[in-house]
Amino acid sequence: MNLHDSLTRETRRFEPLRPGRVAVYGCGPTVYDFAHIGNFRTFAVYDLLHRHLRRHGHEVDFVVNFTDVDDKTITGAANAGLLLGEHTETFVDAFLDDAETLGFLPFSSHPRATAYIPAMVAFIERLVKRGSAYLAADGSVYYAVPSFDAYGRLSGKGGDDDAGRARIDAEDLDKRDPRDFALWKPAQPVDRDVGAVWDSPWGLGRPGWHLECSVMATSLLGDTIDIHLGGEDLLFPHHENEIAQSEAATGQPFARFWLHVKHLKVDARKMSKSLGNFHTVRELLDEGYDPAAIRWTLLSAHYRSELNFTRDGLDDATASVQRLVDFRRRVRDAGETPGGATELAPRAGEHLAAFGRALDRDLNVPRALAALWTLVREVNTALDAAGGGMARADREAVLDALAGMDAVLGVIDLAESSRKVADTDEERVQALVDAREQARATRDFATADRIRDELATEGIRLEDTAEGTRWTRIRTGP
Ligand code: AMP
Ligand code: ZN
Repeated sequence: MNLHDSLTRETRRFEPLRPGRVAVYGCGPTVYDFAHIGNFRTFAVYDLLHRHLRRHGHEVDFVVNFTDVDDKTITGAANAGLLLGEHTETFVDAFLDDAETLGFLPFSSHPRATAYIPAMVAFIERLVKRGSAYLAADGSVYYAVPSFDAYGRLSGKGGDDDAGRARIDAEDLDKRDPRDFALWKPAQPVDRDVGAVWDSPWGLGRPGWHLECSVMATSLLGDTIDIHLGGEDLLFPHHENEIAQSEAATGQPFARFWLHVKHLKVDARKMSKSLGNFHTVRELLDEGYDPAAIRWTLLSAHYRSELNFTRDGLDDATASVQRLVDFRRRVRDAGETPGGATELAPRAGEHLAAFGRALDRDLNVPRALAALWTLVREVNTALDAAGGGMARADREAVLDALAGMDAVLGVIDLAESSRKVADTDEERVQALVDAREQARATRDFATADRIRDELATEGIRLEDTAEGTRWTRIRTGP
């Protein structure tokens, strides 16, 4: 398979360093608040890559960290009157819930930065010994950017003339170069208040954010990892700094491929907490959207292309997922015609191969989806022509192809599982739906609305169609 590497700016063949075993690190959520669906665009691409690598037969060590100590988590804990760990726990759990809701395969591990402080201290000591870091008068330890020749190679930023672009804050007075960044920060009163302080050779303090990822990545995956991922905003300075720290400490290339996911936008602006234009997964579920539709929305564009979030887009995604669910049902339930496989069976195999080849081209999902829809169209045409029946061998081949595609897309099973309801529950829901129709018929809209709201809190969405009210379960219980 080919992947686009942001460092060399080329798309080239990917082979893991160790045959059959791929080491991947993706920058994970900063657990100071609920992750929004912009964050989840990036994480959904992690899952896509994870699944595609597994389809290739690789074992994947996929590490996604929790940034559970940084300025935002500390401020968040202080504002909530909680200890750091108490504050971040909520959002660690929320992330894991949302990841499950969106059907992510479990990642191999989710290290928390706070569990790696001794390793971080040792890492900084190594950098100081090698002349790549220094203790400043304010008690911070800084990375000495001029000591690393390749600085700026990833982002094209941070060269000498870019020095002014580096974030300037009060600490800069103690830096030897404005581009230098903190590896260790001396304890502030707020850090002590929330318990975000650790002992070190440089006194009580806490690690810098960039350092955290270098240490977790190299501790868990070794000096050189195969693929490092993150959202495009992390290219500079975060990833540039990760490279500088890691390569200075180990003397080895840090990551062989760098993948950066373009931001999810809303009305042409980045979806972000600070702009206040964000939605969380749970908000969209509460509005009645299906997890599979959210997943589809996040994955249907190529990860290096623009993706603009709209309600219309989500509605289209809902319709696409429904079409696939209906299609699979139609094939499963198709009556069996006598005889062996027709040309449908090999065609299905070809479409599956085309789907895989598209993903091999730097995870080209739009091209892969074209193969999927061609399969759907051809099979539907054949079913129509044969009065809704098909040969058993054809059916198996089509279902296999569909399963192979969904092993990576992960929407059909997800849609079906999120709608599963126990029979008894089904009867009760149907009774409420009937009561609501009755109420509407007598223009008792207050009752009708009350029933709709009540069902919504259980995760059931009603749709009034010409043939009556249809209901779907979009999630389980409140
Ligand atoms: P954070 O929780 O801010 O550390 O971000 C977690 C991940 O989400 C990082 O890889 C970010 O680059 C990524 N990210 C943040 N905003 C967006 C967005 N609007 N679209 C896609 N990815 C994003
Ligand atoms: Zn990171």
